[in-house]
Order: sequence, then C-alpha cells, then structure tokens
Amino acid sequence: MNVLRALYELLYPPKCPFCGRVLEKWEEGLCALCGETLPRTSPQETREVEGCDACLSPLWYRDGAVEAVRRYKFRGARGHAAVLGGLMAECLAERWHEPVDLVTWAPLSARRRRERGYDQAELLARRVGELTGIPALPALEKTRQTETQSRIEDEAERRANVAGAYRALPDADVRGKRIVLVDDIVTSGATLAECAACLRAAGAGSVAALTLARAR
Ligand SMILES: [Zn+2]
Repeated sequence: MNVLRALYELLYPPKCPFCGRVLEKWEEGLCALCGETLPRTSPQETREVEGCDACLSPLWYRDGAVEAVRRYKFRGARGHAAVLGGLMAECLAERWHEPVDLVTWAPLSARRRRERGYDQAELLARRVGELTGIPALPALEKTRQTETQSRIEDEAERRANVAGAYRALPDADVRGKRIVLVDDIVTSGATLAECAACLRAAGAGSVAALTLARAR
C-alpha cells in the first residue's frame, strides 16, 4: 500500500455501504455481518417487467439495502457504486446466461444529474461493465422532469408519470444489440418498461433489466 493511499484511508476510512460501520482491515467492500445478513433474492424468485426478457436484482429493497440506497443516492456516497455494482455484476454472471453486447442505464434528467453531481444508475452500469468486460454506454436520455416514482403509490399513475419521458439517443447504436438495462431499484417496473420500449423501438435485439434491489 503506498503512502498516499494509507493517508487517504486514515482520513476517510472505508465504510460498509449497508450499515455505515468503518471496515476492519480484513473486510473487503462490505462488513462481515452485512455480508451474511443482506436481504438477498434467490434465483427462483423471478420478477416480470413489461418489455424485458428478465429483471434481475441481487437484493430485496429492505433492511440494509434501503440504507445503502439512501447513502448512495441521496447522501453523496458515490464511491459505494464499486461494491453495489459488484453485487449486480455477480448476480448477472450467476443468473443471466444469454450473450450481452451492451450495458446501459435509465438516466436521470440533465437537471437532476447536475443537482446530484452524478447519475447513480450510470455509475452502477459502468461498474457492471468494468467487472464483466461488456461495454457500458449511454443509449437513452430523459427528456423531461418527472415526479419521483417512490412518492407515487398508484401503479397507473406511476406509468403515466414516466410515459414519454425517455428517448433513445439519436447516435446510440442499439440496432440488433442484446442489452442489459441498469437502474438502482425496481418497484412498479414502469421506468424500466418505458426505457425498454424506447430501446426496442430503436431496434434493440433484446433487453434484460438489472437493478440493485427489488421492492415488494
Ligand atoms: Zn455492514
């Protein structure tokens, strides 16, 4: 370990993304307790999303996963993308045996991205790309602000909220591509369905969704 890195870790000791505890020297990425108690989904518990051939998520959206998403998304812990994206890459490798040409993501609007300083789904997708060797590239844009999906209870309203809010980037080359579409959480599936429809309309060969966590 070089001196700068040692100094950096002294000032900013790495913490567990799930419980926030400072990691022990021997703990890698997440603490031992969270490693054993994370609310993991099983491969048998499948989830359907319109327009997607699969919807894979390593975790249920509860307990530590809720805290992790909060820290990562709303408290600026962008560095946690490394561990969280790692869980997603693992899930993809274990449960998706079809060939994949491209990893992309459900993007924030330009305004929301400016406010947050980063796009949480993009960082997860890029991490998945890095670990799997599949190119991770932007293919969609969000063309208007929408109400935060988690604030809307009704499923039909959630659909209406995101209807027409995305489009395929004009220079994105998705024709015939087998795509993995990344987002942080799947709840009603409305956002993923909308994004998948845009990708398919632009000629995508297939779309499989991959999220960190699955609600309900
Ligand atoms: Zn922990």
